[in-house]
Amino acid sequence: MIPAPTSTEKPHLLRLPNWLGDLILALPAVHLYQRWLNGRAPLLLVGPHSLAPLAPLLLPDLEYLPTRICPFAISATLRKRQVASAVLFPNSIRTALETFSVPYRAGFYEKLRNPLLTDHPPRRTSPFGYVHVADQYLGLLEDLGLPKAKAVLPSSPSTLPKPKDAPAQPYLAILPGAAYGPAKRWDPSSFASVIRDLQKSHSLTPVLLGGPGDVNDCRAVSEALGSPITDLSGTTTTLDLAHWLAHARLILCHDSGPMHLAAFLGKPAVAIFGSTEPAWTHPLGSSVTVVRHKVSCSPCFLKKCPIDRRCLIRLTPEEVLTACNLRLATT
Ligand code: SF4
Repeated sequence: MIPAPTSTEKPHLLRLPNWLGDLILALPAVHLYQRWLNGRAPLLLVGPHSLAPLAPLLLPDLEYLPTRICPFAISATLRKRQVASAVLFPNSIRTALETFSVPYRAGFYEKLRNPLLTDHPPRRTSPFGYVHVADQYLGLLEDLGLPKAKAVLPSSPSTLPKPKDAPAQPYLAILPGAAYGPAKRWDPSSFASVIRDLQKSHSLTPVLLGGPGDVNDCRAVSEALGSPITDLSGTTTTLDLAHWLAHARLILCHDSGPMHLAAFLGKPAVAIFGSTEPAWTHPLGSSVTVVRHKVSCSPCFLKKCPIDRRCLIRLTPEEVLTACNLRLATT
C-alpha cells in the first residue's frame, strides 16, 4: 500500500511511461493520484526528456522532472528531494534503478525487477478480453490502496496558438509514421488515395506531419500523391505538433502517440490499426474513429509482419474514406 503522506515537504512520485501515447493513457491515473493526495504532499512526475516540452500542456501545474541518461543521477536527485514514495508505470529495470533511493517503490509484477521494488501487484487481466492500458494504470493504483476511478481524460486547454505557417483554409493533418514499426503502417498509395478524395470533396489542404523518424514515411506519401504537398516531418517539436493538431479540420493517423494527442485535444481524427489491438490501446474520449481490418492473425502485436501485412493491405482506402466522411459530417 502507498504510505499516506506525512509531510508537505516530501513529494510522492509517479514515473510516467516513455511513449507519448502511453503517457496520455496514464493521465487519468495521474489525476486520480493528485486527487488522492489532495494537497497533503506535492506530486512529482518523472518522465522522458523527449516529452518534457509537452508537460505544460498535458500536466499543467505539476512538476515534471525529465530523466537523464544515467538512472543513478535521478536517484540521487530523488534522495535529496526526500521523495516518500514512487509508483512506476513502465515495466523496466531502469525505472526501478532511477527510484532506488525512495523508501517505497511499487510497479507492475515483473519477475526480474521485483527484488528492486517494495510492492509489485500483477497487471489486471479479464476473462472477457483485454484490459485497456488506461485501466491497467488505474488498476495498479487501486491495488496500492487508492480508490477505483474511471479512465476519463482531463480536459485540454480550449485554445492553443495556431502555427504561423498553418494554412488559412481548413486542413487535413496526415501522420503516416508509426515509431512502433512497419506492422502498424498503412500503404503510402492508400494514404494518397484518401488525401486526393478529401481534397476534392471537402477542399481540405493536406499537411504531412511527423517526427524525425517519420521523414521517409511522409516522403513516400508525398511521392505517391504526385502533386505538391506541405511536408513538415522532422521540422516540428512535439509542442508544435500539438498546435498543428489542435487547428486541423481532420487528422488521419495510425495507432500512435499523435492519435492519443488528438484524443486529448478532442479533435476529430481517424486512426488506422494494424498489428495491435484497439481494445488494449484505443484512444480515450469520442473524437477519434478507429478503423481496422481484423484478420485471423490479428492482433499479433509484432513490429514487423512475418507474412503479407494482410491486416493493413485489406483495409481499403474506401473504408478509411467512409470513416473520414462520417467524422467530418458529425464534427
Ligand atoms: S501477422 Fe497478421 S496481424 Fe500481424 S502484422 Fe501480419 S497480417 Fe497483421
